[in-house]
Amino acid sequence: MHVPDESEAPATDRDRLGLHADCANCFGLCCVALPFAASADFAIDKDAGRPCPNLQSDFRCGIHANLRERGFPGCTVFDCHGAGQKVSQITFSGQDWRRSPLVARQMFEVFPLMRQLHELLWYMTEALALPAASPIADELRQALDRTEQLTHRDAETIAQLDITSLRHDVNALLLHASELVRAEIPGSKKNHRGADLIGAKLQGADLRGANLRGAYLIAADLTNADLRTADLIGADLRDARLDGADLTGSIFLTQPQLNAAKGDTATKLSTTLTRPAHW
Ligand code: SF4
Repeated sequence: MHVPDESEAPATDRDRLGLHADCANCFGLCCVALPFAASADFAIDKDAGRPCPNLQSDFRCGIHANLRERGFPGCTVFDCHGAGQKVSQITFSGQDWRRSPLVARQMFEVFPLMRQLHELLWYMTEALALPAASPIADELRQALDRTEQLTHRDAETIAQLDITSLRHDVNALLLHASELVRAEIPGSKKNHRGADLIGAKLQGADLRGANLRGAYLIAADLTNADLRTADLIGADLRDARLDGADLTGSIFLTQPQLNAAKGDTATKLSTTLTRPAHW
């Protein structure tokens, strides 16, 4: 029997579920539906439902190659996990929001909800690929199937979903998976769940198997830190220094989180992640 390795299994599931952004089949929804505020991440204010002035008529970004230089680094760390093309091509059957104010309103309402559903699917595919989480594989698979079915409902149904409740239930499973994985790491593990570690000096810190769920690690110095098998779900890594850090086997670390951080060629990553071009 072929046993998938950690990098292969989520990739296969994610391909099957369409969890990779396909901008060519999306009507630029992230650039219209979502709001942003002028800050270090965005050069301008933009309300939800208003197209970004950089969005072209072909739904491509006019400054895509220079987003960081033009003051839009926040756009480089966003990932819809395939929600954009799902809403554009499946929920709304390829209807362009520019042709109908009603379609536009519904689309912009559904897109953020679909993104949350796809994000949950993304995390569950990762949990399913963790050998230590095999005792709860059936529960995970059932939750994944239920969530995937929700993504195919009509716009009105998706708009009325209790996403908070769904996130709560899935998160309990993800936490269980995380505990099973981290229990295999010998010794005591740090618990920094939700901790304010903004700007913290954590050079060379032993954070192997640590719980960093939702931790605020903005601009933290994690140079040469040992983050192997650390749970980083929802951790805010904006401008965190990861030079030489070992993130091999870290749990629930996404590419957008990594893109928001700073690192170098010595940073060690799992094979499912790509070294950001700006490192
Ligand atoms: S700057 Fe480009 S990527 Fe960012 S919201 Fe505007 S059009 Fe989209």
